[in-house]
Amino acid sequence: MGSSTKHIFITGGVTSSLGKGIIAASLAKLLQSRGISVTIQKFDPYLNIDPGTLNPYEHGECYVTEDGAETDLDLGHYERFLNTSTSQDNNVTTGRIYNNVITKERKGEYLGKTVQVVPHITDEIKRNFYKLGNEDKYEVIITEIGGCVGDIESLPFIEAVRQTKWDLGPNNFLVIHLTLIPYLAAAKELKTKPTQHSVKQLLEAGVQPDILVCRTEHHLPQDVKKKIALFCNVQLNCVIEAMDADTIYDVPLLMKKEKLDERVMSKLKLTSKTNTELEQWKEFLGRLKNPTQEVEIGLIGKYISLPDAYKSIIESFIHAGASLECKVHLRLISSEEINPENVEKKLGELNGILVAPGFGERGLVGKIEAVKFARQKKIPFFGICLGMQIAVIEFAQNVIGLDDASSTEMNPDTKNPVIFLMEQQKGITQLGGTMRLGSYICELEKGTKSSTAYGKSKIHERHRHRYEFNNEYLEKFESYGMIAAGKNPESGLVEIIELADHPWFVGTQFHPEYKSTVLAPHPLFIRFVKAAIENKHQN
Ligand code: GLN
Repeated sequence: MGSSTKHIFITGGVTSSLGKGIIAASLAKLLQSRGISVTIQKFDPYLNIDPGTLNPYEHGECYVTEDGAETDLDLGHYERFLNTSTSQDNNVTTGRIYNNVITKERKGEYLGKTVQVVPHITDEIKRNFYKLGNEDKYEVIITEIGGCVGDIESLPFIEAVRQTKWDLGPNNFLVIHLTLIPYLAAAKELKTKPTQHSVKQLLEAGVQPDILVCRTEHHLPQDVKKKIALFCNVQLNCVIEAMDADTIYDVPLLMKKEKLDERVMSKLKLTSKTNTELEQWKEFLGRLKNPTQEVEIGLIGKYISLPDAYKSIIESFIHAGASLECKVHLRLISSEEINPENVEKKLGELNGILVAPGFGERGLVGKIEAVKFARQKKIPFFGICLGMQIAVIEFAQNVIGLDDASSTEMNPDTKNPVIFLMEQQKGITQLGGTMRLGSYICELEKGTKSSTAYGKSKIHERHRHRYEFNNEYLEKFESYGMIAAGKNPESGLVEIIELADHPWFVGTQFHPEYKSTVLAPHPLFIRFVKAAIENKHQN
């Protein structure tokens, strides 16, 4: 345990989806602006070792870190807010905890003891709570506990939080409980009872929250705050109002106004080293809220009924749009609903078309139609991971004339496997954590759209895939006008394809969306939105 590291735990009550991740990221942002080195980690109560094997419809997108961890989407918020990287150690699940304990048990490391939830599982949880503090890199570690207080599955985490207090000692430990104050329209009243109950549940588990952050649709009058403070055993000035915000990026400033950071600083006896007053953040918000133009971009994918499945892409457009003072209207369009007959009607009004990442065959025809439409009508196109692979397949079929060209993921028997399984993936039988994951270097071809966008020749981007462009076809593709604009210098894998003869047609095997942040919008998203703006002006 880093001797000087202070720990803040964020729990949630009353209901899920109150935005613990955003509150955690906002608090971290405020501490960061005071010169405090801070990171955020998330502990999830489910039994999957990581979310890599989960359908996006379960918990939204799987976010990938530099070091190749497949993680909860909240880590994306942490990185986008803080502009710093997270890692393997920033997301831990109950599955990982049990896996570690059982592996140790099989090795005989418990020396004949009966292995139990308390103390063995809770010890393993605490070891993981403290892990990021080991190098003394962080003054403060914020730990978000997934799920809701009172859930059976989060009990061991709450018990571990209780024990942590005694490991860390005073001034090093703080619990923030995020809760909901519902408004009953019929009674015209804000109701504190659910909050009282959820705090009671925490108290029963031996955890006294220090600060309550109360989500609400209406301002909390002083008497309501007083009531909450009295019944929940917290100081009055530690009942923090969290009104619904227009955008998640307002939340740091709202929390600053409510003095959340001041309360935390004083309770943990922290002193500010700087106070940047979040100038750049405010500039970003100013541009975000005062767009001078707007464009329509279509996101074609198969998980469109849950926008969280495309969280990082959606946020990347917000960052890029703001940097151009352009409001991006993102239309999520189901690939399964697009066919040759309706493609013009569905996509004709768009200024840009993005084909999303994904797995498997479903919606393939619609995605190919979308690419073809963008290519032929010269509408700016951006393909990400599967989207890039689809662009390659479409080009092979409709430009080069390889009728049955496909990816062996969709058609294992194709005579023209223009996308095929990577050599290193052959023989892999386990699905979890075995894709090509995390950051790899890519060298950009001079004079391409990508190299102009990045303004440099070597980049690092994050991956999550098993299939790749089949280099046996590269010469043929280039002779027809689809070029490899970026390659991995070690393996020769094609990481970016472009069409020379098109205003903006770029496909990336990697996921640029994982690296876009508020303060560093991604260059490929910026250029794509710029191309969409130009498209709009031309029409
Ligand atoms: N299914 C494709 C592959 O595994 C693309 C994956 C993705 O879009 N993340 O290569």
